[in-house]
Amino acid sequence: MILRRVTKHVKDQNWFAVALDFFIVVIGVFIGLQVSNWNDARAIRMSESDFLGRLHSDIVELQERRAFYDTGRPLDMELHVIITEFLMRERDDLSEADKLNVRDFPGIEKVSGLSAAFICNTIDWTAALTVPPAVLPTATELVSSGRVNDIASANIRAALQSFLQQTDRANDLIVAIEKSSTHLSSRFPDLFEIRNKNWEYDFDTGSPPDDYWCDYEAMRQDRPFLNAFALNVSKYSSYTTRGIMPVSEKLRALHHAVDLELEITHTFEQEATP
Ligand SMILES: [Zn+2]
Repeated sequence: MILRRVTKHVKDQNWFAVALDFFIVVIGVFIGLQVSNWNDARAIRMSESDFLGRLHSDIVELQERRAFYDTGRPLDMELHVIITEFLMRERDDLSEADKLNVRDFPGIEKVSGLSAAFICNTIDWTAALTVPPAVLPTATELVSSGRVNDIASANIRAALQSFLQQTDRANDLIVAIEKSSTHLSSRFPDLFEIRNKNWEYDFDTGSPPDDYWCDYEAMRQDRPFLNAFALNVSKYSSYTTRGIMPVSEKLRALHHAVDLELEITHTFEQEATP
């Protein structure tokens, strides 16, 4: 219809009307494109906030699962120092271990206090370097589809990349350390007595130890054992401080960036024990 009108105006040499028609067409196309752009932008914003909401849930869940490592592993390190001093005859007993915040030990809520079995189990498990959970399904989905750059917030993008890189590095490190640690009860079977309690292992909260018994006096006199234990303790320290804590710190930073974007605030208690 507009073409017929333009043709008529050209025939009539009504150049003002031709210019007006042209202007109307241009404005019409412009408005059409703008509306389409606004709709696209709105759709992207909606899928972004949907994505960030899912990412936030993943982060909170992962932090809950990692809490078992974040609190338990540093406590293990403190306990290792006390046990080392005891085995090196620098202290007479292990009573100092009871001063640790024992309630934070994984699985301890299922037993009473730091029993001898718990201490002995801790010695043996200096070689048990499990890789903590570190997967955020929403992030994995984004990475596998090559859409990380679709995240509008540069802060979240950077925090996510940083977390993913740290996780890769940490996992490689843990696997390398684990290979070089000595499983003490297998290597020094005369120093341990173990009876299985058939606990149901809970991956997220740990399990109490089986019935363990250690011959401390024989351990104190066994130089190869003391060397292997010392090396395990040193590796456990690397595992905790370089394999676990940096990933948890990056996860906290990512959580903070997502909270800022979604304007979520948590109470202090929730942040302390995410
Ligand atoms: Zn949050």
